[in-house]
Amino acid sequence: SVTLTNIGKGFGTTKVLKGIDLDIQAGEFLSLVGMSGCGKSTLLRIIAGLETADQGRVAINGADVTGTDPTDRNLAMVFQSYALYPHMSVRQNIATPLRMRRLKLIDRLPLIGRLTANRAVLREIDHAVEQAAEVLQISALLDRKPAQLSGGQRQRVALARALVRQPAAFLMDEPLSNLDAKLRAHMRDELAALHKRLGATFIYVTHDQVEAMTMSDRIALMSEGRIEQLGTPDELYRRPANLTVARFIGAPT
Ligand code: ATP
Ligand code: MG
Repeated sequence: SVTLTNIGKGFGTTKVLKGIDLDIQAGEFLSLVGMSGCGKSTLLRIIAGLETADQGRVAINGADVTGTDPTDRNLAMVFQSYALYPHMSVRQNIATPLRMRRLKLIDRLPLIGRLTANRAVLREIDHAVEQAAEVLQISALLDRKPAQLSGGQRQRVALARALVRQPAAFLMDEPLSNLDAKLRAHMRDELAALHKRLGATFIYVTHDQVEAMTMSDRIALMSEGRIEQLGTPDELYRRPANLTVARFIGAPT
């Protein structure tokens, strides 16, 4: 779970987030939606630890992580540009973050333990990579380079790379916005299916109401740094709290 308590943030004299309270359940698909500039990305970056809030607390699985680095949070941030390593194969791309984390742990072992630990860890990483590739259906692509992949395939590699680290939550900021309409619809179905298979927590930023309505367990609709309404897609559609919500969702007013 991810719990936000009274998160506030300003840039200069502009208040961008004005006291956000939000409790995201483990396993939930939560979408943060709202107009451009309402503070979605800023909130996501505060959850990730990439930005510090001026006020409020962030807790992950009950542990207060306010003020800690992204590396202390075990969250997977899936960016809009997939940031794959171009010179590495898909297999290496997926393995590298996990490998770096494991090797850091091994470095702390006494010399004599390192060699055996290394072999065991490498086998374990291979296994994790193959499992993640199977879940994302990219097993046949493991020996290719990112340049030899389509946009949707690249995105699945980025997801696989996040997946092997078993993050407490996946944070995604408009991950589909660079794709053409057809691929976007396809990836939307894939993400929804992936969420079901994994049972992982997804925090998903979008300004596309179709994405939010079809994939989410709950939607938090933001406007000018506040959450206007939090509820299931059905609740927002049937009982919009105000005109802002109704307009965004496309509900009858
Ligand atoms: P979009 O849908 O366009 O991505 P958003 O909801 O993600 O919008 P944010 O990126 O969170 O919006 O930005 C919220 C507000 O904060 C905007 O007015 C933006 O101009 C401002 N802002 C964001 N980052 C900074 C920054 N580093 N310095 C100054 N202002 C910023
Ligand atoms: Mg944004």
